[in-house]
Amino acid sequence: MSKANAESFLGSVNRNFDKAATYTELPKGILEQIKVCNAVYEMKFPVRIGDEIQVIHAFRAQHSHHRLPTKGGIRYNEHVDKEEVEALAALMTYKCAIVDVPFGGAKGGVKINPKLYSEYQLERITRRYTTELIRKNFIGPGIDVPAPDYGTGSREMAWIYDTYLSFRGGDIDAAGCVTGKPINQNGIRGRTEATGRGVYYGLRELCDTAEAMKRVGLPLGIAGKTVVIQGLGNVGSYTGSIMQLEGKARIIAVSEYEGAIYREEGIDFEELLRYRASNKGSIIGFPGTTALSSREAALELECDILVPAALENQITEENAPRVKAKIIGEAANGPVTSGAEEILLKKGVLIVPDMYLNAGGVTVSYFEWLKNLSHMRFGRMEKRFDSNTYSNFVGLIEKLTQQSIGEREREFLTRGADEIDLVRSGLEETMVTSFQQIWETFRQNPKIDGLRSAAFVTALDKISNDYANLGIFP
Ligand code: GLU
Repeated sequence: MSKANAESFLGSVNRNFDKAATYTELPKGILEQIKVCNAVYEMKFPVRIGDEIQVIHAFRAQHSHHRLPTKGGIRYNEHVDKEEVEALAALMTYKCAIVDVPFGGAKGGVKINPKLYSEYQLERITRRYTTELIRKNFIGPGIDVPAPDYGTGSREMAWIYDTYLSFRGGDIDAAGCVTGKPINQNGIRGRTEATGRGVYYGLRELCDTAEAMKRVGLPLGIAGKTVVIQGLGNVGSYTGSIMQLEGKARIIAVSEYEGAIYREEGIDFEELLRYRASNKGSIIGFPGTTALSSREAALELECDILVPAALENQITEENAPRVKAKIIGEAANGPVTSGAEEILLKKGVLIVPDMYLNAGGVTVSYFEWLKNLSHMRFGRMEKRFDSNTYSNFVGLIEKLTQQSIGEREREFLTRGADEIDLVRSGLEETMVTSFQQIWETFRQNPKIDGLRSAAFVTALDKISNDYANLGIFP
């Protein structure tokens, strides 16, 4: 993204904020304090790459200290700049408030194209970046807790954790300094799929809301809905798989860096992911599909749900008039600009905003952080106890009915919850509850123009309450 675009991303987030602020009665000063970015650390450090020394440019923005630690991913992308990181950090604050995750928002960025570096070089960059954060007290389980974002994953999180440990080995809660770690290094089951799974729960909830479906003239339920997905990174690939396997939605088009493909009857999404891996990273030529003229063309297809799951500023004032989707599910951060949103809202499109819809990642990060601080896996205490209780029930029913239950049913009915079951259940509960809160705000206030403003109002309400509790605001 060019600098001009990145600036307009921050501008877009702030314009959305200002619009939503008019629906609240909060004093100007408190709104200003919620809106501003509290602290940004911009750094330049040398790393040896091959025979030369390269100066790496990186950032960490902590948008809001009203709750600590601050929380948010670290992005590796050549277009990263200060405004982009600030915009993303602000979204994290609103996101955490909406899903009741008790953190302030933050975001980090390293201005590199990770594809141009070897694994060893990426490790050196990541470790040096972490050292810079430690030096300035910008990381720690009670200070600021990074996580994966675009261009990073559990591998980078493991390097961050290990670097932190080498400086703060005596900190018994050190594992809580970063989330999205590998499972065997104090990570949690279900974190990798969390954002995509959350997107699915959020869209399923919307499709199960009669009034919402009436507004867009679609039948109830996610099953059979036609879906277009932009981006096959972590978020897009889990969203597509889960929407198809669990939601029975029909994915008619997929767009990626190399182009876009279409199939009216639906694309076998899991098969497509395997094909791409074996086809030098390209979806083009996947059997049964036709290639579209450009990757952008997918965004303009007739469909029920369009899911942009790549980067910000994808739907702009330029292409918004040609978008034909009835629902846009923002799996990425900031894919629809504020100007585009105005056009889409006039057309009656329901936009499910990023700050709610992709909050599954930070929600499960919160569970991972809790696991790290409690030093115990979820389910360890109650799994056997629950299982024994269910067994006793089944035994009693068998005795009373004089009938015995089959082995498979017994297994199903008497199972105690594992970590993954609890994580998914907590995530589902979070996404469903938060959707209901946003929908109620939207429904009860006819002046509110869309779900993004409703989500903002919900967030502003919760954050201003926190300030009140801190005694800053009566
Ligand atoms: N990078 C993710 C996001 O934008 C996850 C952040 C986290 O888990 O802290 O929401």
